[in-house]
Amino acid sequence: MAFRQKHLLGIEPLHPDEITTILDVAERYVDLNRQADKHSDALKGLTQINMFFENSTRTQSSFELAGKRLGADVMNMAMQASSIKKGETLIDTALTLNAMHPDLLVVRHPHSGAVDLLAQKVNCAVLNAGDGKHEHPTQALLDALTIRRAKGRLHRLNIAICGDIAHSRVARSNLMLLGKMENRVRLVGPPTLVPQQFREFGCEIYDDMAEGLKDVDVVMMLRLQKERMDGGFIPSEREYFYRYGLDADKLAHAKPDAIVMHPGPMNRGVEIDGTIADDINRSVIQEQVEMGVAVRMAAMDLLARNLKASREEAGVMV
Ligand code: ASP
Repeated sequence: MAFRQKHLLGIEPLHPDEITTILDVAERYVDLNRQADKHSDALKGLTQINMFFENSTRTQSSFELAGKRLGADVMNMAMQASSIKKGETLIDTALTLNAMHPDLLVVRHPHSGAVDLLAQKVNCAVLNAGDGKHEHPTQALLDALTIRRAKGRLHRLNIAICGDIAHSRVARSNLMLLGKMENRVRLVGPPTLVPQQFREFGCEIYDDMAEGLKDVDVVMMLRLQKERMDGGFIPSEREYFYRYGLDADKLAHAKPDAIVMHPGPMNRGVEIDGTIADDINRSVIQEQVEMGVAVRMAAMDLLARNLKASREEAGVMV
């Protein structure tokens, strides 16, 4: 099995074979999740703790469901009410939790790099559920699985990632994953939200939707991350929608069978027209949510196997 990682901190350290392995294992969980009995024993006896220092709907609930379906004991830390509010540092909280012998820690944090730091202090597997503007690896993996299932392959596709690239960990993780799998990625958005430094990922940059979407196979829209903006990045939401919001006219420039994606939460009428988001012939937004549970099950299953193997090697009872 080609998956050697101890943690899932980002897409950056993954080899293309490891990405394929996660997606292949996830396919089996897609099937399981469609059965009446959705249970497996992959995490039986293990403890999973979810620590979300930032709001989340899809990611937190799907990690919780994934752990429960795999038989883990799952605990959601209420971070709003935790001792962090009393001044405890992230590392002290991590060390306290570590003393409770978790096997998997799922962490979302507003600061880039915070999850890597935490992983160095604990002796369990750590999964990054989004750290600042840095990475959101399970989002990129679920996007990849959605694309692979819709298009029948995950290479040599033309993919446009559109909107607020500058503040998006989803864009960064996707850029790395899609690049590793040899796709052509374009970034489309206003220059204020698509910094030229992103060219270092080997992608093309467009500030016009008609040109940027021309003949693409996949249109991935991103939310305007207002919580990470401290100035006037756009003139107004109305103007933004007019120039960069995905509607039928702009989508007409893509291939006729191009799929439309969005990681959620969506701002309808800002980055995407509601009728496009709901068009079951083009939008795969609900499939993305379904794939999210399966991909998170696969990632935790693979990490747990490596954790058990390393503990066995070290002579620790499992
Ligand atoms: N849910 C994704 C994230 O946590 C995308 C977003 O919030 O816009 O990064």
